[in-house]
Amino acid sequence: MGNELESLKEKIEREAQGIKNQADLLKFKEKFLSRKKGEISLLFKKIPSLDPEMRSSFGMEINRLKKIGEKLLNEAEERIKGEKRSSIISERIPDPTLPGKKKIHGSIHPIARTSYEIEEIFLRMGYDIEEGPDVETEFFNFEALNIPKYHPAREQQDTFYIREDLLLRTHTSPVQIRAMRKRKPPIRVIAPGRVFRRDEPDPTHTPMFYQVEGLVVDKGINFSHLKGTLEIFSKSLFGKLTKVRFRPSYFPFTEPSAEVDISCPICGGKNPNCRICGGTGWIEILGAGMVHPKVLMAGGIDPEIYSGFAFGLGVDRTFLIKSQLLDIRYYYENRVEFLEQFR
Ligand SMILES: [Zn+2]
Repeated sequence: MGNELESLKEKIEREAQGIKNQADLLKFKEKFLSRKKGEISLLFKKIPSLDPEMRSSFGMEINRLKKIGEKLLNEAEERIKGEKRSSIISERIPDPTLPGKKKIHGSIHPIARTSYEIEEIFLRMGYDIEEGPDVETEFFNFEALNIPKYHPAREQQDTFYIREDLLLRTHTSPVQIRAMRKRKPPIRVIAPGRVFRRDEPDPTHTPMFYQVEGLVVDKGINFSHLKGTLEIFSKSLFGKLTKVRFRPSYFPFTEPSAEVDISCPICGGKNPNCRICGGTGWIEILGAGMVHPKVLMAGGIDPEIYSGFAFGLGVDRTFLIKSQLLDIRYYYENRVEFLEQFR
């Protein structure tokens, strides 16, 4: 009987050494320690057939063997876990002495940042931000804004048409109509976004560019509100000394309409060769006016009760003036080396 126990002990020790993975562990456990079929457990069943004086010492021997088996099983389990851990570490860090990789941080595109700056100024004045789709219907892009069928802006060569009545919006003004239909006066919104025109790229044109539209509708809104608002805006963006000039103009969706110039923030009108203002001392930055009664009506607002003003400015152009870099195309080439300098 002693020999049988001794050879089983050797077998257990040998096989425990051969355990390499989880499957081996289970196999070992099943083979030796399983309650029903394990080789150690089976020995207990032999006890009743032994001489009574042998039973107790044999039982103790089996228990000792069982403890050895369990100890070896635990040790093998720990060993496998340790090996797994160290293999994960060596996979992740091939050579911890190599120099680290430099992380390159992205930054906000200068045009987007200019748009955020403009938005900030109007948010401080109590405006909400309104958005509209890039793909617009002819109705929102033209008709509702009092741009009739024969207007040159509606010609195929200026607009990207998707279908006969569907196009890429040519300005952010359709958001005026959407805002009026969605909200009730008093309305104070700005609508930043992309617009699209079939322009050949040149230093001041790209087929896609950014605008910010503004709209205020309430009882008793008049031109002086518009002037005051744009003056505060221009001084906030270009500096306290900035002067603002309104020139009469024409837009279908405003009446009266004005083009708005600011005094040149670069030379202040003192440099006859200024690249930004061309020596005139003034730079046109936006178009504005009182909302046309037909436009108010298209937005579901009674022009007999309410009036409003609207304005729109080009974000790209604003940034060109601020950066004094006069070719807009650089900003859309996605050259990191170029963009990095405006971080
Ligand atoms: Zn100038």
